[in-house]
Amino acid sequence: MHRRDLLKGLGLTAASLAVPGCGNALSRSTKSGAGRKPNFVVIFCDDLGYGDLGCFGHPTIRTPHLDRMAAEGQKWTNFYVGASVCTPSRAALLTGRLPIRSGMCSDRRRVLFPDSAGGLPQSEITIARALKPHGYATAAVGKWHLGHLREYLPTSHGFDSYFGIPYSNDMDRVAGEGRKAFWEPKTEYWNVPLMRDEQIVERPADQETITKRYSEEAVKFIKAKKDEPFFLYLAHNLPHVPLFASDEFDGTSRRGLYGDVIEEIDHGVGLILDTLRDEGLAENTFVVFTSDNGPWLPYNEHGGSAGLLREGKGCTFEGGMREPTILWWPSKIAPGVVHDMGATMDLYTTIIKLAGGQPPADRIVDGLDLSPALFGTGPSPRDTMFYYRGTQIHAVRKGAFKAHFITKSGYRRDKRVTHDPPVLYNLEHDPSEKYNVAKDHPDVIADIRAEVTRHTQALVKKEDQLAKRIKKE
Ligand code: MG
Repeated sequence: MHRRDLLKGLGLTAASLAVPGCGNALSRSTKSGAGRKPNFVVIFCDDLGYGDLGCFGHPTIRTPHLDRMAAEGQKWTNFYVGASVCTPSRAALLTGRLPIRSGMCSDRRRVLFPDSAGGLPQSEITIARALKPHGYATAAVGKWHLGHLREYLPTSHGFDSYFGIPYSNDMDRVAGEGRKAFWEPKTEYWNVPLMRDEQIVERPADQETITKRYSEEAVKFIKAKKDEPFFLYLAHNLPHVPLFASDEFDGTSRRGLYGDVIEEIDHGVGLILDTLRDEGLAENTFVVFTSDNGPWLPYNEHGGSAGLLREGKGCTFEGGMREPTILWWPSKIAPGVVHDMGATMDLYTTIIKLAGGQPPADRIVDGLDLSPALFGTGPSPRDTMFYYRGTQIHAVRKGAFKAHFITKSGYRRDKRVTHDPPVLYNLEHDPSEKYNVAKDHPDVIADIRAEVTRHTQALVKKEDQLAKRIKKE
């Protein structure tokens, strides 16, 4: 079918689908100008649960800016991360590849630590590095967690600048009493560094003001780069425990300190979107909001909520890997609620293609181009998702069905259980993963097993980056 006929069938015109940077940009009155490549802003939270935003059903946390972003853009209800803990999830987003392909997951240590000698290998091509040849200004603000040694830092991976804490905000613990330190956190308990490019500029980083300062840094970058295409990766350290909010937000949410933190992040999102509007950049900027993994449940009220999804951070139930995701691009993407599947790895491919590039052809890239779903021309191309824990496949989703081959909670002391046949859930009927329907669908299980075989046959073993430690003198 000719493209014109296809568009007519969908009730669309070529102009309504125009994407800047793809050779058919709309003329517009803003100073962003016709034909300019689109800007990209990815806002990535840490340990935010599926149920922690107003627009995803939280009954007391107020997120007016994210709610508006969702109303103007797309709210994705089946959007996944590449792993249920920080380091591998971040590697998946920035490389478009399951972390098993880069060595950024391990069965020995789940994430990188301050004594880690490894990090994201130079052979990986981050979104930032892929965008540089297309003339993009790039900045990373916030948590990195892909290696804190120089060769692994953002400035060694395609980012022009970096401002942030290079790993989790609960590392480098030097004081405080047991878990009480988390219930009544003080900045001085965690001696984490705050870095500007490759230099430590503050230690311990003042965590009470960190969310506010990250948002301000993001706004500053957008204003400074408004006349050139830019990619901003803003990865908040929070709401990962220990929780901190600035004076303006501390004690203001009905949800307690966790709510204060989310409402401060929401406020920052508002500042960023207002800046894009005020600078005339909104209609040329694709903004994504999501999180690296689900809520950290052992921290009780200091952890978030996965809403109706089962379990949380650290495991392969939905609560660990399905994230509250909002995509925003006024006048470009079709507003609405999207029930199709998507994944952070898809942002890699989608963003690079929108910038006029192509994902690297010399390796397997797991990311798919979400443009059809974004621009209303068709469904999301994603119908399968692999759920890894470390280097092992624990579950696979295909279409509505998810097969669990191995189950274990995130952090409870339950046993790892292998299932043969796998436990099968219909996630469209049963998003809370309660009712095993394996007996009724042997054909679905056979199909999923075939997917696993195809997938594992194409895997190439990589050096475990997370197990390497800095040698003590
Ligand atoms: Mg996390």
